[in-house]
Order: sequence, then C-alpha cells, then structure tokens
Amino acid sequence: MERVFNFSAGPSAIPEEVLQEAQRDLFNYPGAGCSVLEMSHRSASFQSIIDEAEATLRRIMNIPEEYAVLFMQGGATLQFAAVPMNLAARGQKACYALTGQFSTKAMEEGKKWVDPIIVSSSKDKTFSYIPKIDPEAIPEDAAYLHICANNTIFGTTYWNLPEHGNVPLVADWSSAILGVEIDVKKHDLIYAGAQKNMGPSGMAVVIAKKSLIDREIDPVVPVMLSYKTAMDNGSMYNTPPCFSIYMAGLMAKWVEKEGGVAEMERRNREKAGMLYEVIDNSKIFSNPVAEDSRSITNVTFTLPTQEDTEAFLKMAKNRGMINLKGHRSVGGCRASMYNGMPIEGTKALVQCIKDFEAGKRE
Ligand SMILES: *Cc1c(COP(=O)(O)O)cnc(C)c1O
Repeated sequence: MERVFNFSAGPSAIPEEVLQEAQRDLFNYPGAGCSVLEMSHRSASFQSIIDEAEATLRRIMNIPEEYAVLFMQGGATLQFAAVPMNLAARGQKACYALTGQFSTKAMEEGKKWVDPIIVSSSKDKTFSYIPKIDPEAIPEDAAYLHICANNTIFGTTYWNLPEHGNVPLVADWSSAILGVEIDVKKHDLIYAGAQKNMGPSGMAVVIAKKSLIDREIDPVVPVMLSYKTAMDNGSMYNTPPCFSIYMAGLMAKWVEKEGGVAEMERRNREKAGMLYEVIDNSKIFSNPVAEDSRSITNVTFTLPTQEDTEAFLKMAKNRGMINLKGHRSVGGCRASMYNGMPIEGTKALVQCIKDFEAGKRE
C-alpha cells in the first residue's frame, strides 16, 4: 500500500522528511554508535538531543526565560491530574470552561482534588462555539482557570483568550500547538499531548511559569506528577520518553526550517480556508461551528444521513484519504490537518467533496 493522506486527529501525520530523517538515524545515531532507542539517557548524545529539543521549542514559540519547558510522560490526560495537584491546595476552588469532551474530562479529573467552578459551557449547542467567560464568575482565590484552547473533537478554537484577572490561566493546546501562533506570555501554563503536532504519543510538553511551579506540593502527589521535580531534574527524574523527545525535537526543527510557527499558521489557514469554503458552498455538506470559533487544525463536517456519511468515507478511502470519520462520540466527519498534512492532501479532499456532491460514487 502506498502512503496515504492521513487526516487522523492523533496520532497524526508526520512530515515525510521528518520520518525519513528518523529512519536514517535510527540504526546508528551520528556520533553515538547506537540507536536513539538504545542510548543511555545520561549520555552526552541524549543530553544534546533533549537540550536541542527544548532550545528549538523556545525559539519557535518565543518562550521567555521565566518559563520552564518540561517533557512529561502520560500524554495530555495525565495533565488533567497534574494541573490541580501542582497548582491547587486540596479542596481549593478552580475554574473550568467547558467547551468539549477534553475540557469536561479535565474538570472531572480535577474534581478529585479541587472544588470545580464551571465558568462557561457551550454544551447547550453541542459545543459548537466558544462561550464568553464573565470575569466576575472567576473568584479571586481560585487556583487557576482551565481552558481547552483548541477542541479537537468539535473543531473550535479560542481566537481570543479570556480575561482572567490575577488567577493563573492554564490552557490545553494539544491539537494546535506549533500549528497556530500562541502568545506564551499570556498564559501561566500550557500543556499539549505530543501526538498531534509533535510526534509520537505518550508524552506531554508543559510550558509553565517557573514561579508558579517552583513550590513544595502535597507529599501525597506521585513524584512523577510533580512539575517541580521535573523542572529541577531537567525532565529526567527517571528514564524519560527518549524517542518521543527526540521526535519532538525533529518536528520542532522542521517547523523552524520551514519558516516557523507563523508560516505553519499561514499554511493551516490556507488548508482550512479551502475546506470551509467548499463546505459552506455545499448543499449537502455542512459545518456546525460558529464562524468566529472555527479551528484551523480540526475541521468537522456532516452529511444529511448516515448512509451518505459512509458512502463519502468509502470514496475518500478509495482515493487514499483515511481517518476522516468524526469522533465516535459525535459522528459525522472530521479532517485533522496538522503541520504534517501537505496542501495536496487538502486539495484531494476538496476535490472528493466536490465530486461526491456532483453525484460521483467510487
Ligand atoms: C488528544 C487530546 C487530549 C488527550 O491526549 P492524550 O495524550 O491521549 O492523553 C487532551 N486534550 C486535547 C485537546 C487533545 O486533543
């Protein structure tokens, strides 16, 4: 089978150049005499891999010195627990904005540690828009305000961050990090699962104000969840996810070489723009998301019937486009177009939509 256009929400498409570079270096990493999968994490070779991954992320995201960059295991979901356990005292108030499944899961997990206050929700319209947050609804003594900045399943994005006063802002940017420009300084903590725009799954990148995480926390918290421990040990308190860190470094370097995050956002806007345009002009395809909330990395769309949806997915698959099925909780279709999706992939999808609408079935 040839390589396909992979529209998966995650794990997701990786630029071919990055895969080829990883393949070249896999057997014998330059200067190491062994593979990155085999080298000691305490070796000079690995130290330079992790240092370079961090330095590249700092350059391309303009991460100020007063923020730590941590590579943590367990994906974004473990951060749903790490955030409350590191930033809040047990039983303290913490604010959550509900804009989809991941933000709801974050709140459910947080509830085991904090007293959650739901400051906004778009559940009334199946999470098809980003609801305003009334700053008055955020108590001054809340530990943080948590948002999911790009909602992978529903295809929405916060294009404007909410007002949050002196309460720290925590954002899950899993599905748009490195795909849109993020003003790190406007956040107190950012986290992102790696498998959308930064390589393999199983790891989360955390970007946090050092002053926020440099504190003793409840000793009951597992050491592997402690931001301070991760920070004080250069993300290597134990054996880190070496290969994931290596791949995240390659992904970041690729972004830099291609022109940086601004260029990624430009390309993602172009891809998403083409797709929204054909959907908006269609009589049978439609997108349920409010225009000012539309994501440029995850585009959801529906067809009139389940039968149509299945016929369309089949036709797309026959043309070499996979993973266009919507999340199992919402149905319909979804095209995730992260940095690894070339514009040719989106063009093929647009053509498929046009042909399907014209009555073609393949
Ligand atoms: C994928 C995703 C998650 C979950 O990531 P895991 O690494 O599977 O835990 C959380 N939040 C958002 C926004 C995501 O897109």
